[in-house]
Amino acid sequence: MKNTNVLYQHGTLALLVPGLLTGTLTLKELMAHGDTGIGTGEGLNGEVVIVDGKPYQFDSFGKANLLKDDFTLPFANSHFADYQKIGTLSDADSAAFENASLEGKPNCNTFFSILVKGTFSYMKTRAVVKSTKPFDTLAATAKKQSIFEAHDVKGTLLSYYSPKLFHGAAVAGFHNHFIADDLSIGGHILDFQIKQGTLEKQVFDTLEQHFPVNNAEFMEHDFDKDEDIASAISKAE
Ligand SMILES: [Zn+2]
Repeated sequence: MKNTNVLYQHGTLALLVPGLLTGTLTLKELMAHGDTGIGTGEGLNGEVVIVDGKPYQFDSFGKANLLKDDFTLPFANSHFADYQKIGTLSDADSAAFENASLEGKPNCNTFFSILVKGTFSYMKTRAVVKSTKPFDTLAATAKKQSIFEAHDVKGTLLSYYSPKLFHGAAVAGFHNHFIADDLSIGGHILDFQIKQGTLEKQVFDTLEQHFPVNNAEFMEHDFDKDEDIASAISKAE
């Protein structure tokens, strides 16, 4: 039976900071742990959004590509969808979205996921330009990104919430990706405004953290020598 209480994560955001960007998990392996998810490709190759079992990558050219099983990722999340509708949103900015997702509380001590399906009066996303070996740091690669904007676009916002305590393993707070119904825009969300949408939530009681143990570079890396990982993640994400 598929366990819908588990959030699976491969890699950590911390390993992206010094540029450990080798794809260490295949899409097929990721999707064995879920039909819904987000991630990035090797060398921060675009932004991955998986909804209803369909894995799309939005690349830095603004193109949506249906991914094959052998696509590799240095960092990704997935889970099996079992969302419950908790409300609707209209004319909501990101603060209103976060407040509604947290059901009025200032924060939450466990991981959860949110889906908003509807019409977005504004959507601003980014997709990083794929880098090749030797990989740059996250800060340097994140500067090489394409920005996309759309108005009145129908689609799905997929968000993962991580408690502050897990900043480093993930991004503390909300990590939002988007996919337009017509695939005209998608990727990592920088800003948005919801015109009208349904708000669905799925709470996890378990985080399954998987590490790239077969990657020597990762296993031998000394994270103590890196710059301030926490602030590097906050800046880039
Ligand atoms: Zn992202």
